[in-house]
Amino acid sequence: MSKQEDWAALAEAMNKLTGDIPPLDFEPESVATARARFPKALREHFDPMNAALGRVVPPSKTRKNVFDFDEGIRIIVSVDNLQTKVVLHFSGSFTEDGANTLMDRALKTGRPMQEIKEHVATQARSIIERKIDSFAPGLKLKLIMVTPIGAFHFLAEESDMIVNGCGIAWDSHCESDRRRVMKETVSAECDSCNATGIYRGFAEPKGVGVVCLSCGGSGCTEITYTPFVRRHPRQDVETVQLSRGGKSISYRDFLAF
Ligand SMILES: [Zn+2]
Repeated sequence: MSKQEDWAALAEAMNKLTGDIPPLDFEPESVATARARFPKALREHFDPMNAALGRVVPPSKTRKNVFDFDEGIRIIVSVDNLQTKVVLHFSGSFTEDGANTLMDRALKTGRPMQEIKEHVATQARSIIERKIDSFAPGLKLKLIMVTPIGAFHFLAEESDMIVNGCGIAWDSHCESDRRRVMKETVSAECDSCNATGIYRGFAEPKGVGVVCLSCGGSGCTEITYTPFVRRHPRQDVETVQLSRGGKSISYRDFLAF
């Protein structure tokens, strides 16, 4: 199922079977709204085999799986159960208006005609990837297929890790959340040497410095941290004291703060 032809064949079969279900109206929403309802799109797993047999409505025709944006972008999100594995699947495409806007912009660049098509495709892909990242941040997307009508299909790497655990990683009560948020590393000025690479303390004679031990003389240190997304749940606490020895509330009430 990983080969492009398999996906294309499946997509075609689904189109044939669901062609009589009218397409969903284009209903643009904000990134904030999309972000908020994204977890709902992942709750039910989609079985492509069942869909190919006409037993279930595919994600493309299910509102909770469809995300539309002002730029004329439609993104379809589904957790596909492929028997051997479960994948987090995104497909993104432009409406006719959206595609025309892209084309107009490309034409204005004055590039030669033969380059325009490729340029538009590259642009379209990167805009779609950025849009996905805006409401489903931090995923590593792998392009698996581009359909003839210009829909870009991606799978999230490490889908298993994202989807398994207590269910869905974006669920606010899921502990595997913590592991999902990727650590980030930034380069910062070394505090020990004020980013000079040279340390001078009391022991050093006047005019003499030593190579900074903290940064090896580069003046730069790396700070690794985990960006905050939301508070994580605890399993080992039932009662929370508002201060040491003070009034207590239940953990459930604490969560409601
Ligand atoms: Zn240093």
